[in-house]
Amino acid sequence: MLPPPVEMAKCPTGLGAADRARLDFLYEQLQRQLRTFVGYPCTAGFDYSDLFRFLALPLNNVGDPFTRCTIQMHTRAIEREVLEWFAALYHAPAGEWWGYVTNGGTEGNMYGLYLARELYPQGIVYYSQDTHYSVSKNLRMLRMQHIMLKSQPHGELDYDDLRETLRLHRDTPPILFANIGTTMREAHDDVGRIHAILRELAIPEFYIHADAALCGMTLPFVEGAPRFDFRAGVHSLSVSGHKFIGAPIPCGVVLALKRHVDRVARSVEYVGTLDTTVTGSRNGFTPLILWHALRTHGREGFARAVGACLARAEYAVAAFRRRGIAAWRNPHAITVVLPRPAPAVLAKWQIAVHECVGHILIMPHITTAQIDELVDDCAAHPA
Ligand SMILES: *Cc1c(COP(=O)(O)O)cnc(C)c1O
Repeated sequence: MLPPPVEMAKCPTGLGAADRARLDFLYEQLQRQLRTFVGYPCTAGFDYSDLFRFLALPLNNVGDPFTRCTIQMHTRAIEREVLEWFAALYHAPAGEWWGYVTNGGTEGNMYGLYLARELYPQGIVYYSQDTHYSVSKNLRMLRMQHIMLKSQPHGELDYDDLRETLRLHRDTPPILFANIGTTMREAHDDVGRIHAILRELAIPEFYIHADAALCGMTLPFVEGAPRFDFRAGVHSLSVSGHKFIGAPIPCGVVLALKRHVDRVARSVEYVGTLDTTVTGSRNGFTPLILWHALRTHGREGFARAVGACLARAEYAVAAFRRRGIAAWRNPHAITVVLPRPAPAVLAKWQIAVHECVGHILIMPHITTAQIDELVDDCAAHPA
């Protein structure tokens, strides 16, 4: 006779009163902390309750989203729709792109660098000093040669330094890591200018990856903003899903030219799919989150949200300046850069600081009331 099934997941008693109280306490604490969460590029205030029932399923998008798989508990059709939406947004050449939903911008950047290394094992990675901190770790993990370049004071790559450094290493294919929105100042490296320098130096072989963690979801919706995507000549691009879009679980999207991905694909009998992704098992829930956001907002909704954030960022700069605080922002940026606030301000507000600067991000959920309160606090406690 078969043993009775083990019902581990359906504990009949559920959580005890103390455990429930603990969760209630944590939830209320997080709700309170949301009020001062102004320094990081994460949107709050989303509602994905349509998707809650899927949390009762063991979803897994293991392996390549475009190939068949022996595991059927997946959301790959939804994931592919999400990827197609982003491929159109970033002008990826039809039939020549590939991608997947990642665990965030860091994984997408690592993937782009991995493809570049497989293409040019001896290549040198060039990246500016304003690049996200995770990139130097990725470069060590991938054991890639790299050279950090100078940035201009507003955070954009120093093109003279790029040109002079490339000139010294003309015998090695360059791998350019372009920041489309640097972490501290939201400056954009100009992909067109990078191409012009490569042409000027007659360097035929190169790879460009765009780190568009935040601005991959702002710049496409801003008229007159610089081009940074496949149309501008990048080979891969990474964007975060939990930043401008907003998600309760970190996620992102990486897109790349298919011919470079084919080089790394390995077929795996155990799961019946291709091992093209960084992790084996992959989140089957985050594609639903992204799909929900794209279906509910659409391009028009994101364009409206970006426009409102830019207007509020300008409002914030003016409000700080009226009180004598030298706030500023880059063109098309929702990041407002401040002199490093006083400890009393940092004790109350969740603001990212780096050396002598701090910044706030005017994400869709940030209100003018919050901006006014922060400005008052900064004025009351001069840096
Ligand atoms: C946030 C960020 C990253 C890292 O993205 P995660 O989604 O947090 O992994 C990389 N680059 C830039 C420019 C970022 O702002």
